[in-house]
Amino acid sequence: MLITLKDAATRIKSANKILITAHVQPDGDAIGSTLAAMQILRSIGKSAQVFIDDTVRKNLHALPHFEEIRRPIDGETFDADLLLILDTSPDRIGNVRKLTDAPILNVDHHVTNKGEDVELYVEPSAAATCEIVYKLARELDADITPDIATCLYTGLATDTGFFQFSNTRAATLAIASELITCGVSPHFISEQLEKKSLAEVCGLRDALNSLKIFCDGKVAGMFLDLASMQKLNSTGGDSTEGFIDLIRVIDTVDVAFLISEKAPNFCRVSMRSKGVDVSKIAAKLGGGGHIRAAGCTLKTTLADAEKILVDAISSAI
Ligand code: AMP
Ligand code: MN
Ligand code: MN
Repeated sequence: MLITLKDAATRIKSANKILITAHVQPDGDAIGSTLAAMQILRSIGKSAQVFIDDTVRKNLHALPHFEEIRRPIDGETFDADLLLILDTSPDRIGNVRKLTDAPILNVDHHVTNKGEDVELYVEPSAAATCEIVYKLARELDADITPDIATCLYTGLATDTGFFQFSNTRAATLAIASELITCGVSPHFISEQLEKKSLAEVCGLRDALNSLKIFCDGKVAGMFLDLASMQKLNSTGGDSTEGFIDLIRVIDTVDVAFLISEKAPNFCRVSMRSKGVDVSKIAAKLGGGGHIRAAGCTLKTTLADAEKILVDAISSAI
């Protein structure tokens, strides 16, 4: 059921023990929005705890209160009267779903999120969920501390490719400006986020070596097989984030994709586009996302995933 931002604020005010989560394979917006929400809710007297059912990329570990994020363990339950799900629909939160039966409040900016069965505030024009959490903080009269602002700015910066993607609007920059007034240090966040481990740069080399071009140059794809993914993940906390941007820039390319074989018969697909609505392609394949950035999971071999994806993209362009 779709609700307004005011309804979402009212829902939060009436709760006391709030469990906060976001999607698996968390990005800067998922971690930034949940950590910001945790601090905002605590500042208005609520008990709040973040759970994420995945490892988190190392360069997000410097965010304020990062060390308080918990990962659910088998059979664990958590006493809560509200489950606040940010930056995704409830189907991508892994085992956090099993921690509580509390009612769900879902706050998101993905156009593919339709809010079936739960209360959802969705704002597809928001560049990041952090934009919405900022507005929620204002609605709740919460003070935006430098730590909260740092978390929110991280989500804005990562989901907009540092204010370069087409989702960057005047409102996005206005909120970023407010956050700087609240104490954010943009260069500190940028330097933190651009860091890559040696394993990540080696993974990037493997990915670029696999580059293939399809559809007369309109589509470019990269492939990371199980061996490459295992090398990349050897230390935990390494990710393929940003790899796809290096082929998205090819001048003839409209759709770029990266398929990562995370386990046998389990391939993660990332897509980026300059025109085609890739959220529709992803939704057809059981995933979702935004017009220009979307993804899905294909439970097949890498070779079959390539075929399925290239077929779906060619029929869309
Ligand atoms: P990524 O390529 O992982 O950066 O994801 C691009 C966008 O698509 C993000 O907004 C994701 O939240 C969304 N997305 C990725 N994978 C899925 C999926 N399996 N289901 C729904 N949305 C997804
Ligand atoms: Mn996200
Ligand atoms: Mn997001």
